[in-house]
Amino acid sequence: MCGIAGICYSKDAAILIARMLHALQHRGQEAAGAVSREISKNGIHFYEHRAPGLVGDTLAREEVTRQLHGDAALGHVRYSTAGPKHTAHASQVADAQPLLREGVALVHNGNLTNHLILRKELEGQGARFQTKVDSEVILKLIGRGEADTLTNRVCDALTRIEGAFALIILSKKKLIGIRDPLGIRPLVLGRVGDGYAFASETCAFDIVRGEVVDEVAPGEMVVIEDNEVRRINYASVTPERPSRPCIFEYIYFSRPDSEWGDKNMYLARSRLGKQLAREEIARGTDLDLFGDDTIVVPVLDSGLPAAIGYAHQAHLRFSPALVRNHYAVGRSFIEPTQFLRDLKVLLKHNANKALVRGMRVILIDDSAVRGTTSRLIVEMIRSAGAREVHLRIASAPITHACFHGIDTNRGELLAAGCEDLEEANERLRKASGADSVAYLSHANMVRAVRCSSQCDACFSGDYPTPLTDLQT
Ligand code: AMP
Repeated sequence: MCGIAGICYSKDAAILIARMLHALQHRGQEAAGAVSREISKNGIHFYEHRAPGLVGDTLAREEVTRQLHGDAALGHVRYSTAGPKHTAHASQVADAQPLLREGVALVHNGNLTNHLILRKELEGQGARFQTKVDSEVILKLIGRGEADTLTNRVCDALTRIEGAFALIILSKKKLIGIRDPLGIRPLVLGRVGDGYAFASETCAFDIVRGEVVDEVAPGEMVVIEDNEVRRINYASVTPERPSRPCIFEYIYFSRPDSEWGDKNMYLARSRLGKQLAREEIARGTDLDLFGDDTIVVPVLDSGLPAAIGYAHQAHLRFSPALVRNHYAVGRSFIEPTQFLRDLKVLLKHNANKALVRGMRVILIDDSAVRGTTSRLIVEMIRSAGAREVHLRIASAPITHACFHGIDTNRGELLAAGCEDLEEANERLRKASGADSVAYLSHANMVRAVRCSSQCDACFSGDYPTPLTDLQT
């Protein structure tokens, strides 16, 4: 998960890119970077800036944007899924995007599943890599291509790569937006001022008073040159091979005010919460959950829409009894001991004792990965005086690692190897210490997001592309 944006034909390109990346900050907090392009009588020049940290502390500073001249720019916020993580400052910057090689800059959201093989092949042909990120393979393929135009070299490179990719490329003349043939990761085309722009999510257009034109379609390459748009289908979606947008974008990643296709993320999450309540009611629970002293509490921020949906459907009292500290980002904390690791959650969350004391709490989170958040928050709510804590997860158990751009491989997946929902519920109950636990069923999760087809490999193991690097 990373956030990407690109803009052309705008005199404030660098400032606008920094703003757009602000809106995409939730997609990656490790590093931020931008490349701009200036066309003048002295020729065409690219300017670049990359730094570890948040957009507001780095890229958006005036002394930085002032140096990024030109009327076109690309930007990236990084959440590392390929390449080293939490490494020294220098290598964090080296692996940060945009990548820029020989007049072509590129930003990438997603993960390639055959980049190791391609890297080996390219190195065998004499290619020298400067980073460890999979995205550099794409630039190398483009750079070494034999076709006569950049568009054709890009098309050729796209036939070699597998996996998930939303890409934006800035060359001396063009701005190009591309989505992988299954549309696993999102990318949107829009207008900003007199120019065009691409971004991972629609919220990046709202922040600059832009206007969304359309999604870049799965298997589509959108080329902008001389302020004209050319749309090329390099790989078409067929009934036999329908698009597979990532279901986790609906559950957790995208911002709630973003729209993907005709679907609003907040509304999808609210439906996930409603489905969770419907399952609760259908179970005819003997827990006597639905009393006057029951409150529905979201784990902020991502559990909020589901908790509102759940409370609404179950006619229960919604209570924002957890407070979230938005200033404690904690990205550089590598806690050496379990005690300090556990304290990390207290940096972000605190229970409001007056709201919780004596209550039966139904705690709603969007997902459980390792179960760490669940355990610490259940404990926190209990010690704030709750009578009972019932944990509800507004998505299915995550049983498989993601190889397509989402960091669900973080450590051990709590539900890995679980045969059914009951086993996963029991495992999370033990791990979290909650009085009861219920995940949402896979079928109702899919129903709630209302996709006709999707990538739900982390919930099912049904991977949308071959895992070539893993299998060889
Ligand atoms: P865990 O504590 O490992 O069970 O992770 C679950 C919590 O992290 C939930 O509160 C989610 O909102 C959030 N979450 C889910 N997936 C991710 C991810 N890939 N990166 C960071 N946080 C995540």
